[in-house]
Amino acid sequence: MKKSELPEKICPVCERPFSWRKKWERNWEEVRYCSDACRKRKKAGRSN
Ligand SMILES: [Zn+2]
Repeated sequence: MKKSELPEKICPVCERPFSWRKKWERNWEEVRYCSDACRKRKKAGRSN
């Protein structure tokens, strides 16, 4: 079985690579952050 076929992206908040997850199968193109925590963190960031 091949394990490394899942696409990856780099989270702009924590700058770590994260792999495709089942829950993103419908909107992987739109996924930018590795987790809700990072997404919120980005959103809650001070506008600068
Ligand atoms: Zn992240």
